[in-house]
Amino acid sequence: RYILAIESSCDDTSAAVMCNTKVLSNVVATQEIHKQYGGVVPELASRAHQQNIVPVVHQALAKANIDKKQLSAIAFTRGPGLMGSLLVGTSFAKSLALGLNIPLIEVNHMEAHILAHFIEDEGKEAPDFPFLALTISGGHTQIVKVDHYFNMQVLGETLDDAVGEAFDKSAKLMGLPYPGGPLVDKYAQQGNAKAFKFPKPKVDGLNFSFSGLKTSILYFLKRETEKNPDFVSQNINDICASVQHTILEILMEKLKMAVEQTGIKQIAIGGGVAANSGIRGKLKQAEADLGWKTYIPKFEYCTDNAAMIGIVGYLKYQAENFTDQSVAAKARYAIGS
Ligand code: ATP
Ligand code: FE
Repeated sequence: RYILAIESSCDDTSAAVMCNTKVLSNVVATQEIHKQYGGVVPELASRAHQQNIVPVVHQALAKANIDKKQLSAIAFTRGPGLMGSLLVGTSFAKSLALGLNIPLIEVNHMEAHILAHFIEDEGKEAPDFPFLALTISGGHTQIVKVDHYFNMQVLGETLDDAVGEAFDKSAKLMGLPYPGGPLVDKYAQQGNAKAFKFPKPKVDGLNFSFSGLKTSILYFLKRETEKNPDFVSQNINDICASVQHTILEILMEKLKMAVEQTGIKQIAIGGGVAANSGIRGKLKQAEADLGWKTYIPKFEYCTDNAAMIGIVGYLKYQAENFTDQSVAAKARYAIGS
């Protein structure tokens, strides 16, 4: 079975060809245009998807060495995401499925981030049910209890900024280019995590909040640079290490709480922030100290990509869970709805 998958929810245009659970190709065109604006500009993202989608799909088919006539189904991201971006992928997928007269499969982007763990990848083990999924990306922060492929429940999520945004906005305050997350990680590795202390938000239950952290960093930097204009450049490693430490403490506290509440010690991490070296270290430590078993997919399956849409496409194909041509993109689309 060959399935073509299309992802266009935010600022990456991606197409993948799957052969069952195996990825034959996974092409991602990242839109560079947003860099100069320090964040994603929805109108420009939509326009870039329009330009990219045909060549990206062609490339995915060519790399997989598959003719479109061999495809069994088309899977696409229906939501959540930017409406203008989602419309491009949705319309394209609908037209192609109609033209080829093959089934159409809609995919929830957040479920796909979680189910990416089931992509066949040499040497990687997939988690057993039930497990807890922590999705940490530029747009989302969620802890989800996963009982089965399509039986999952959000236990907690962010009430304001996502973790990736917390990294990027903190980086911006330090004058680092967008997206600053990877740079914070890089500098943090040479810094002292205890050098500066930032308050942690008080949020009940398993929900998160990151907007307060950004504000306290803003005031902290303002105060320090008034005393010493070179404060940031002289202390960049320590500031990054301290900021990252605070963010990771928040994540780990909530994860521990979720483990206590559910008794589930299998933890699967996804989303772009899963690339962070600090979180990887903390998880390894939790394996040793707390008996957790943790799973992190290959980086290219953590950030936005069509292969994760493709694995969900395959699972839905197996279940004959198809959608019809009346389907519309959904900017807000909760897991399990
Ligand atoms: P979403 O998936 O919610 O639509 P997105 O596409 O913006 O959002 P991803 O591509 O999954 O998110 O992840 C990008 C985010 O990950 C950015 O905020 C980036 O700064 C962050 N990030 C990437 N690498 C690291 C790292 N090593 N440390 C911290 N943050 C990182
Ligand atoms: Fe995503």
